[in-house]
Parts: sequence; structure tokens; C-alpha cells
Amino acid sequence: PLILGLESSCDDTAAALVRGREVLSSVVLGQAELHSAFGGVVPEIAARAHAEKLDICVAAAIRQAGVTLRGVDAIAVTAGPGLIGGVLSGVMLAKGLAAGLDRPLIGVNHLAGHALTPRLTDDLPFPYLMLLVSGGHCQFLIVRGPHDFTRLGGTIDDAPGEAFDKTARLLGLPQPGGPSVQKAAETGDPTRFRLPRPLLDRPGCDMSFSGLKTAVLRQRDALIADQGGLHSRDVADLCAGFQDALRDVLVEKTRRALALYLDEAPASPGFAIAGGVAANTPLRAALTMLCAEQGVTFTAPPLALCTDNAAMIAYAGGALFAAGTKHDMTLSARPRWPLDSAAAPLVGSGK
Ligand code: ATP
Ligand code: FE
Repeated sequence: PLILGLESSCDDTAAALVRGREVLSSVVLGQAELHSAFGGVVPEIAARAHAEKLDICVAAAIRQAGVTLRGVDAIAVTAGPGLIGGVLSGVMLAKGLAAGLDRPLIGVNHLAGHALTPRLTDDLPFPYLMLLVSGGHCQFLIVRGPHDFTRLGGTIDDAPGEAFDKTARLLGLPQPGGPSVQKAAETGDPTRFRLPRPLLDRPGCDMSFSGLKTAVLRQRDALIADQGGLHSRDVADLCAGFQDALRDVLVEKTRRALALYLDEAPASPGFAIAGGVAANTPLRAALTMLCAEQGVTFTAPPLALCTDNAAMIAYAGGALFAAGTKHDMTLSARPRWPLDSAAAPLVGSGK
């Protein structure tokens, strides 16, 4: 079936058309320029922009796919978690389309979209271990099926992408922080500033990253007090120290999550990474090595599918649809929606 996917849970407005594992079109309109003056995403501005841009996105996705709206077999939409105004805009448009076209409506958890995406491009059998690491999220999931996830742990404060972005801001580097910190770190000495590895001394898969950016702030202020400013050498060394610390934490916690996952003796063990921070080259390299060492297949979706997009929502919607999921007009937008087997079912489930 041809699935139209809609995504509007954060600061990207997106629409996509997916048939099976074929992405016919994937349109993403970012809002970075709308929020840049405020140093973060402003929910009110985001909601208004989504409401304005969703129609344009859908029209562009339909045109680029070379299909017609009538040809769409089902509408999949992010129903949470995320900024409620944006999620509502998407859910309302999806309901309108589903009612107008008389097609099934499928509410998709945004995190399920990220978590299932590796299967869009790779032959990755269930169950696999997923590290979702983005600007807003950081968690380990055992993905057992489109409806079946087990959360092994996650960050208790900042997400790594957020830590990258804040570190870049502290050091006067451009946003988004991930790529600029990675670039600056290339010429840096990671041993000059030894930054903390939070929570490594504690058992389990939970992580913490807010202390890292505080450590960067302290070192920066000490350098400024000392020498009156920052040299590009200092910035490079701080970036390298920060990136190393973050990588060490993620690799060690992944080692633990893998041990829990492998305990279940999966037939063909696989590990997948998704989210914008999956683009970080040193992190990817370290995780690739860890997986090789553990005899686990490493998978990472292409970057355009790793960051927020609607193809992942359409694909996950298709998988849910195939598993019998359908929602009705009471489908609600959920600002919080943990991706756990224990999580409450979505209101409006026609299942
Ligand atoms: P979410 O997907 O959780 O709702 P988001 O939209 O902020 O949040 P993504 O679009 O998945 O997240 O990723 C954006 C984040 O990825 C930013 O914080 C950015 O700094 C980070 N990022 C991008 N490239 C890199 C890189 N090379 N190294 C580290 N971080 C990176
Ligand atoms: Fe996301």
C-alpha cells in the first residue's frame, strides 16, 4: 500500500510517500531560521509554522512522488511525543485527509519511527538493539516488532545532541553544534582537558550529559580568566575532550546494553543507531568496532533518514498497518508517549 506520512513534532515539517521499502518522496522543511534568534525552539512559533507549511509539504511530496492524493492508501501521522502544538497540527491535517479521502488513519509514535527506520534500508531482523541518539533523545531499545519495544535505559538529563549544541554555543561555534564541534575536534588534543564520564561508575544503561557541558563551561571560564580569551587551539582541544568523553560514555553504555540484549540469545544479533548524533564519525567508528568485537551486525540508516523526516513515519505507519493498527477520529496528540511495552495504549485505537 502507498502510505502518506506526516511529521511535525519538533522543528521540522515533513511529508513523505512510501510504498513498502520504497521511498517515493520525502520532503522536509526546517524551521531553524525562525528559531535561531531565540537560542532554542519556540513552541508557539513552531506550531504556527507547522500549520502553515504542512499543506505545502504534502503537495510537494505528492508531486515529487508522481502520484495523486486519491492514490494514497493510508495516512500515517506522528501522534507524539513532541511539542503539542505541532503534533496537533499534523494530527488534524491527517484526520482531515483520512476523512476526506475515506482512508485509514494510523497514529505513529515518533520514536517508533526512528526505531523502525533501519529496516527501511537494511535487512535487519527483529529483535535488534537500537541506540536512538538525537537532539532531544537518548535511549537504548530492544526492538522486537512494530508494537513491541523494551527500553533498557537512557539519559536522565540532556540528550547528546543538545550537549553538542550547548558546547558549540559556549565556544562560539555555529549551530547545529554537532558538525561544528566534530570539525573543531579534528585538530584538537583530547588529552589536554580531561572531562568527566558521568554515571560510568554506576551499573545500568542510564546516562547523563548535562555535567559534561558544565565541565566545558568551567574550563572555558578558567581559560578566559587566565589568558583573557580563547585561542582556536583551546577551542579545538575542548571540543576534542568533550567529544571523547561523550563517545566513551556512549560506547561503555552500549557495551552494557548489548550484554543485556545478547543474554536473550537473538538468532542473528543486530545493532542499529539512529538520530542526528549518529552522524558523528568518531562515535560511529567506535560503535562499529564494538559491534565487530561482539559479533553483532552494525546498521545505520543514511543520515537523511536518521534525522527527523516523514519517510520514517510513513514506513512505521505501513508496518503498523500491516500488523492491524488503525485509529479513528478520536486519535489524540500526546506530548509524552514513552515507547515501552508497558506504555498506555493510544487513545483512539480502533484495534
Ligand atoms: P529529535 O529527533 O530528538 O526530536 P532533533 O530534531 O534535534 O531532535 P535530530 O534532527 O535527529 O534531532 O538531530 C539533530 C542533532 O544532531 C543536533 O543536536 C546536532 O547537533 C546533532 N548532530 C548532527 N550532526 C552531528 C555530528 N556530526 N556529531 C554530533 N552531533 C551531530
Ligand atoms: Fe526525532
